[in-house]
Amino acid sequence: MKTIDSIDSLIKGKKAKVYTAAEIKDMVRNGRIPSIDDVDVVTCGTFGIMSGTMAILSFDIAEPGAFAKADSIELNGVPGIPGPCPNENLGIVDCAVYGTSKRDGRYGGGHLFRDMVSGSMIKVDVTSGNKKFARNMTIDDIATARMIVTRGAFRNYTAFLNHDERIYNTIFSVTGMKGPLKEVSVSGCGEINPMQNDISYLREGAPVMVNGGPGVILGPGTRSSVSRPNISASADMKGMDPDMMGGFITSNGPECLTSFAAALPITDEMSLRRIMVLDSEIDLPVAEISTRTAKASASYGNVWEGTSRSITVTAHRCVSCGSCEAQERCPTEALRPAHIDTGRCVACGACASVCPERVFSADLGRIRYDDRAVPITLRQSDRNRAEASCEKLKKMVETGKWGLRCF
Ligand code: SF4
Ligand code: SF4
Repeated sequence: MKTIDSIDSLIKGKKAKVYTAAEIKDMVRNGRIPSIDDVDVVTCGTFGIMSGTMAILSFDIAEPGAFAKADSIELNGVPGIPGPCPNENLGIVDCAVYGTSKRDGRYGGGHLFRDMVSGSMIKVDVTSGNKKFARNMTIDDIATARMIVTRGAFRNYTAFLNHDERIYNTIFSVTGMKGPLKEVSVSGCGEINPMQNDISYLREGAPVMVNGGPGVILGPGTRSSVSRPNISASADMKGMDPDMMGGFITSNGPECLTSFAAALPITDEMSLRRIMVLDSEIDLPVAEISTRTAKASASYGNVWEGTSRSITVTAHRCVSCGSCEAQERCPTEALRPAHIDTGRCVACGACASVCPERVFSADLGRIRYDDRAVPITLRQSDRNRAEASCEKLKKMVETGKWGLRCF
């Protein structure tokens, strides 16, 4: 009989049989159904927009006695919320910064978090009454930098389309969503998302990788339900990987990219069966953007089966338009005319949808709605990065650097 503790012991002895979710799904697709003795741990991951992400920070900004209590704070121009500890006369500020707070339409909390984790210099401005304090600092100068995700790794998220003639500005589009029924935007990494697999282990106190660093599950996230669960989690920002997080510019302002990975123990036939779920078996509700009501249903097979995982660049097609719309619309600022910075590209497909010369091309798939095949024009989740996080976690489990218990 396998238990979490017996599998944990195998991990400690570097004897656990570990697979990524993608490896298991490939086996299932090829008719090689694994047995309970073949698999001890499966690593799952997801990467995408997760608006419910915030940072809790604490740092020195002035000498003790210089001010009584902070009234306002900005980091690289992104507003935070001072408190709750007043730190009276200590010269210290505690604050929360939301991933969705913004300096302007192109820079917000998600961008700030990535810059912090990259080790970039951050400009901090604090006011207290009529006193102003400013300091440049890196994450090493910040005593506490903890990320809290209030709602992450949502199970079967929703695809959105627009029934109206008018263009609808929304966080689910980078251009404004065109209608009627001209395009669909999708979120979710489908079959490799931990919440699509065996969630019985994903409870309060279980370890989870957040943005490539170690974290812990706090419990169910906001809006979590039995049929569509998600998790909340906490992690030290100082252990994170900047390539596994960031900002994403939408037609309704900057959003926050966050990633999760979890090592799921396979203890019994039920957990084994659950991790064999495939994209085509996972429901993807399709909703009208203005009311958010689901009107139809597709599956993640429409999004991830037989579609392009990356963007093809045919540079010679570029005619050097006056202003490059593909560059302007790229939500991660990964694009220069006819060139993509793969370190920042999340394979969302927006450039392929807007470049008139098809310099960028990708088959993002289609969703059937009212007898129409509506093209997917934007993916707000990156399956490549999610798979990379599964690979990273697999190596950590195989080498005994990641266990199934936090404490
Ligand atoms: S929109 Fe396309 S064709 Fe125009 S400059 Fe950009 S890459 Fe070149
Ligand atoms: S797919 Fe294109 S638009 Fe999307 S992040 Fe990559 S370069 Fe930018």
